[in-house]
Amino acid sequence: MILIKGGTVIGPTGAIPADVLVVGEQVSAVFAPGQGPAEGDFETIDATGKYVIPGAVDAHTHMELPFGGTFASDTFDTGTRAAAWGGTTTIIDFAVQRTGEVVQDGLAAWHGKADGNCHVDYAFHMILGGVDDESLKAMDTLVTDEGITSFKLFMAYPGVFYSDDGQILRAMQKARDNGAMIMMHAENGPAIDVLVKQALERGETDPIHHGLTRPEALEAEATSRAIWLAGVAADCPLYIVHLSASKALEQVAAARDLGRNVFAETCPQYLYLTLEDQLGAPGFEGAKWVCSTPLRSKHGTHRADLWQGLRTNDLSVVSTDHCPFCFKDQKELGVGDFSKIPNGIGSVEHRVDLLYQGVVDGKLSLARWVETIATTPARMFGLYPRKGIIAPGSDADIVLYDPAARTRIGVETHHMNMDHSAWEGYEIAGKVDTVMSRGRVIVSGGAYHGAKGHGQFVRRGLSDYLI
Ligand SMILES: [Zn+2]
Ligand SMILES: [Zn+2]
Repeated sequence: MILIKGGTVIGPTGAIPADVLVVGEQVSAVFAPGQGPAEGDFETIDATGKYVIPGAVDAHTHMELPFGGTFASDTFDTGTRAAAWGGTTTIIDFAVQRTGEVVQDGLAAWHGKADGNCHVDYAFHMILGGVDDESLKAMDTLVTDEGITSFKLFMAYPGVFYSDDGQILRAMQKARDNGAMIMMHAENGPAIDVLVKQALERGETDPIHHGLTRPEALEAEATSRAIWLAGVAADCPLYIVHLSASKALEQVAAARDLGRNVFAETCPQYLYLTLEDQLGAPGFEGAKWVCSTPLRSKHGTHRADLWQGLRTNDLSVVSTDHCPFCFKDQKELGVGDFSKIPNGIGSVEHRVDLLYQGVVDGKLSLARWVETIATTPARMFGLYPRKGIIAPGSDADIVLYDPAARTRIGVETHHMNMDHSAWEGYEIAGKVDTVMSRGRVIVSGGAYHGAKGHGQFVRRGLSDYLI
């Protein structure tokens, strides 16, 4: 038994001073201050001056993802340990069916990578790299038997993950029938490929051209098309991943105004970083910030619009799209050809802090901070109320957050398996102080007490966030 005393518990409905009693792996009770059990045969954690928040849920990570002839540099071991350090106690990673592979084989491969290696709990979405009769049937099996209730499709990456509109529609119809969520990488891949080829022919090889060949219009167009297709599939639940651009957000907002089951996430990189300042860094440096969708221009209103979307719930979730690659030997694969730079930024450790800075800056309320990083992702993807809330019966995944301390982000102090940081030098006016995963204190006093293998696979139910 552990009693967390004297803190301020934050949930999606606001902040209340309260004490939290943990028994075994679960929250047993939430008490008015001082009303819990008196001193006795249990451990007490003093949370005075701290926020007590549900362990964060990162609904979009790619540990060990094969991409462009290499692998994302965090394993499930190193990546979930870094997540724990940063206050994230559940990840939903993407198992991959590559084109031509059997869905269940892809899933088994991801279980093989994760099983016994995770420090915090984990679940899977399934990437469908090939929609056909067999994979459509597999969608039903995964929903009913495997606890996998969301499927990611790609309108980008022809020849790798790409689905055409007919395939997308068929998968959406299937999801409408079995209750699953369709997650969409919404960029017009065939059009992007034309722009990439033309840029390279003109000798435009620097990292910034990764962004310039993936213009906002091609994200907005694909987002709109996905929304229309989901409408044809009788309002199949649709979740746009890594939304980065104002005009894509407009499409989502318009659909939501109509009461549609259309949702979207953004990622910290789109809230803070830009095409010019990061992707356009001198020489090959910008490769650190090559990700898709790309960072957007600072001359647009993208960042302000995304923060606003978080406030209005047109953006419901902040995930990281954590897909780290080292600079040396990995990002460097694209020297002289930006199209060969592995796509991805590593942030799994920093999302709680980076979004808390939004609270400090007056852009988000405390309640909205917790909602976008923990409660809504749990609800969106069928983990609630086990995850994403501090309530009797929920897993004791709890973070004590210290608003009086500071975090400085950088490669010297982070725990991700990366030789650089996309956030080097960023200072946050707050700090993850203590982290508990299913009742076990895994981070406290600046030391790590967790263990590989503690994290368990979590079977998910259907979304309870639908309109
Ligand atoms: Zn994607
Ligand atoms: Zn991704």
